Amino acid sequence: MTPLLTLEDIHRVYASRGGMWRRPDMVRAVAGVSLSLAPGETLGIVGESGSGKSTLGRVALGFEPPDRGRVQFAGAPMPAPRTPAWRALRRRAQMIYQDPLGALDRRLPVLDQVAEPLVIHGPAAEAAERARAMLAQVGLSPEQALRYPHELSGGQRQRVVIARALMTKPDLLVCDEPVSALDVSIQAQVVNLLADLQAARNLAMVFISHDLRVVRQVSQRVAIMYLGQIVEDGPAAELMADPQHPYARALVSAAPVPGAGATRRAQRIVLKGEPPNPAARPSGCAFHPRCPLVMERCRSDAPVLAAITPGRRAACHLLGGGGAGRDMSHGAPA
Ligand code: SF4
Ligand code: MG
Repeated sequence: MTPLLTLEDIHRVYASRGGMWRRPDMVRAVAGVSLSLAPGETLGIVGESGSGKSTLGRVALGFEPPDRGRVQFAGAPMPAPRTPAWRALRRRAQMIYQDPLGALDRRLPVLDQVAEPLVIHGPAAEAAERARAMLAQVGLSPEQALRYPHELSGGQRQRVVIARALMTKPDLLVCDEPVSALDVSIQAQVVNLLADLQAARNLAMVFISHDLRVVRQVSQRVAIMYLGQIVEDGPAAELMADPQHPYARALVSAAPVPGAGATRRAQRIVLKGEPPNPAARPSGCAFHPRCPLVMERCRSDAPVLAAITPGRRAACHLLGGGGAGRDMSHGAPA
């Protein structure tokens, strides 16, 4: 099957303000990521802030071109940002952000905003009818559909954004921290809604979050990022049950499975050291200053992301990722 989305050796560098002597720091936000997504598949991307996961999401949808590497959508190269070809493709690949209020127009009732993607292409009355039906599908009443964004709760607003994204019947939804701004009590509702819609519509979904617990609920496959690189990926259930990379192990140990017993909690690995700073990337394995298993060679040799078992990859010298070879696998979906 042709993958819906393919990222090949993606690199993205920014010049950040505030470098020493007012010279900009070069920040390697994404430093060589390859992965692919099958139609209807859900991939969770997990990492701390500064791990490059949001940048990767924007590159995947063509909002910004990579400095190096290739993005393919449905077998064709991603068009340059903001060209007519890109705008046409964007109907098939939609993005949902953390802040629903920022994504909505405060001056318009939400019904109009959900109908908007269709209004350009057809009769307004029909667009409004379909928008009303879509809002009902995400759990908003006809009366709520007529309200303005500020008259709705955060969770309701994110439902509106989701409804609007689905109006063009996309094949791919990239969700960047879609529930991080919401009360914990309603996060699960919105995550469940996304999971239901994904299954009902055979949507492919990239679900970006710093919160492994949230990602676990929706993802078939998970990629764990650290300083712009994937350090481990694989089927979600397998990876969560038995993470291999030291960083993945620390993340999983800090997000215990509900109901798992005291033994699991006792194994919690607390990371030492500073959170990652993409402007000051350590030599060798970028995780080495925080790694509980660091060895001498980790300070100079960067491990390669390599297959550890069928369908799983990790980048660590202890897991055989130390060869001088290049990573040729592209995370073929299971
Ligand atoms: Fe730790 Fe070395 Fe593996 Fe990096 S390569 S994760 S520092 S053991
Ligand atoms: Mg982010």
